[in-house]
Amino acid sequence: MPGFDDDDAWQKAVDGVRPLGGRPPHTAKPRPVEPPPRVAPAPAPPRVVEVERVVEVERVVEVERVVEVERVVEVEKVVHRVARVEVEVVTQVVIPLAALLDERGVEGPERPRVLAAMAEAPLSGVIEATDAQVARELLDRHLALRCDQPECAAPHAVTIEVPRARCEACGGSDLDRDGARVRDACAAAGVRSILIVGGSPTYRVVLERIFPAGGRPKVRLIPGDRPRTADKARADLAANDRVVVWGGTILNHATSAPYRGANVITLSHRGLSGMLRQLAERLGSKG
Ligand SMILES: [Zn+2]
Repeated sequence: MPGFDDDDAWQKAVDGVRPLGGRPPHTAKPRPVEPPPRVAPAPAPPRVVEVERVVEVERVVEVERVVEVERVVEVEKVVHRVARVEVEVVTQVVIPLAALLDERGVEGPERPRVLAAMAEAPLSGVIEATDAQVARELLDRHLALRCDQPECAAPHAVTIEVPRARCEACGGSDLDRDGARVRDACAAAGVRSILIVGGSPTYRVVLERIFPAGGRPKVRLIPGDRPRTADKARADLAANDRVVVWGGTILNHATSAPYRGANVITLSHRGLSGMLRQLAERLGSKG
């Protein structure tokens, strides 16, 4: 409407005015309820958005860094645990093994040969053994340090060849000469039979050669890892003039314990030759 650009003023002006043609009079129209003004969020200046994005990236990087640090700490813990286990293994197995090889007189370049032999049966049990005594017995039974003389051979054991002076059978001496000393001492002492308790089956083979069946003295060997009942031990003591308990070799307490008495001789020399020399001396002193 020309002249009225204000809606209110127009309504006021026409209020009650009856238009022509009998139409109802104008009334003031109720004012439309205006919707609350829409508050549009103020657009963030682009610089702020950029800063927020950078802050978010930094936060993610920091979280990843913390996760990475935690992962490294975990890995370090595992490495530490593994190192500790290795130390324990070294303590339990390798150090006693070195000591056991020292006990047996395995030295220098013989050591790698013995260790290589442990990769396979019958010596592999030494590596798995957690008990030093078990490892010692396995070495006693299955490892032989022998010279190159055929009569010293240990056919049932892993043999490491050593100089004659260190041969566990002859010790560099003449076994027949040592056997002859024992024979002489036995003859002088009236000893006709000897039972040796201890040693490995390989020593038995050598003894059978030195003291052939049917000769004097009659020499028999009971391996030191066979338990012996008190009854059998009594029978052995009754049947033999002397019983030698050979402590320098494989000898379980259960095997040696039942042997007690005046005709029991305890010897400690490891090698067969040394044992025979000791035996000759002891028989002589009893003579
Ligand atoms: Zn020998």
